[in-house]
Amino acid sequence: MYRKNAWKEYTDEQIKAVMDFNEGYKDFLSKGKTERLCVELTKELAEAKGFRNLDEILKNGGEIKAGDKIYAENMGKNMALFVIGEKPLAEGMRILGAHIDSPRLDLKQNPLYESEEFAMLDTHYYGGIKKYQWVTLPLALHGVVVKKDGTKITLAIGEKEDDPVFGITDLLPHLAADQMQKTGAKIVEGENLDVTFGSIPLKDEKKDAVKANVLKILEDIYGIEAEDFVSAEIEVVPAGKARDLGLDRSMVMGYGHDDRVCAYTSLVAVLDVENCEYTNCCFLVDKEEIGSVGATGAQSLWMENTIAELMAAMDGSESLIKVRRAMANSKMLSSDVSAAVDPLYLSVSEKKNAAFLGYGVVFNKYTGARGKSGSNDANPEYMAEIRRAMDEEKICYQTSELGKVDQGGGGTIAYIMGNYCMNVIDAGVPVMNMHAPWEVVSKADVYEAYRAYKAFLAEV
Ligand code: MN
Ligand code: MN
Repeated sequence: MYRKNAWKEYTDEQIKAVMDFNEGYKDFLSKGKTERLCVELTKELAEAKGFRNLDEILKNGGEIKAGDKIYAENMGKNMALFVIGEKPLAEGMRILGAHIDSPRLDLKQNPLYESEEFAMLDTHYYGGIKKYQWVTLPLALHGVVVKKDGTKITLAIGEKEDDPVFGITDLLPHLAADQMQKTGAKIVEGENLDVTFGSIPLKDEKKDAVKANVLKILEDIYGIEAEDFVSAEIEVVPAGKARDLGLDRSMVMGYGHDDRVCAYTSLVAVLDVENCEYTNCCFLVDKEEIGSVGATGAQSLWMENTIAELMAAMDGSESLIKVRRAMANSKMLSSDVSAAVDPLYLSVSEKKNAAFLGYGVVFNKYTGARGKSGSNDANPEYMAEIRRAMDEEKICYQTSELGKVDQGGGGTIAYIMGNYCMNVIDAGVPVMNMHAPWEVVSKADVYEAYRAYKAFLAEV
């Protein structure tokens, strides 16, 4: 159903299904505050559904056959799940790909300092944020500190009711005369996104006594020393759970909808699969917000290597040409969020080609900026197949562009997978205030995305 308000189409029973599905999503979003945590959660959900770790299968020389459920993990930050199909892998897969990293603040490698008897943590923001949105909010710290001997200490402070939280200060309006003259990009600057970490001085300590005191606490509770931050990955994120938004509870306000909303819906769609013709895959990647780079981003050879390993385990084939065929013959939904029309900022959207909250999953034939630059422009032949599948299953779907032509733009992982000559189109959930600490989605769109992904796996 193209461009229809899903809420108007639903029966009471369906509305209950929408609400129930979103309870699971809110839980995932509230717990999955980092890519590492999303990987952990995904593994838990997958193992509960009978998925087995590829590394262990390979180590034990186990066979892989149609109907097997397998997951592969890369450095704790990205992963792929497979339900092995009846057809040979070289005939292609049906892939749902989404990213599990979200905009945030990362601690610098040497983050801790003292200023005016405050212990502070220096950060470097990750992804495209409006810096002024990240001040005066309760923030939590998540991540790992790895000691020289390899011991890994997991940090998660700020989520539990009785946990302390952290925060970034901002000037009071009374003294902000100079600040308010600045442009939005400069009103809060990157080097000012420093987290307040403590204020009690350690008794009898002469220099930097507050810093010394927080270090003592870190040492006592976690066994962490100042130098251990050098080998740490700690992310500063909004503290607290995802919540219902609106008196009618129609929306979810939460941190990290981009792109965990597509990750979760893709994941559950694949977890639901029992048997399939073509191998079904859910591909969850890291580093999308900074260009899909590095070993755990979509540009990494990891996925290709994983397919090669799968193939070798399935039929002993060590032929790279078969891997190439598997990739080229695959069809994919690059599942990423879209910009939703905001009633307060109508001027940036062109309504005929914009996504609306509540109108279902969004297909972006292309993304990009300034003349489609950086986009994967999906083939109409492929889009036609998708339309058929959507209508077959009565999915509410819409199409959109990322705002008005000269307004800006953005990208996804679609073009990277497109490099393999695979058919890829962007498909996801519309988000309001994307990249803000608290983003908004419609529960109907979350549910329709899940249904759309299932329809894609079953029908395309
Ligand atoms: Mn995204
Ligand atoms: Mn993004």
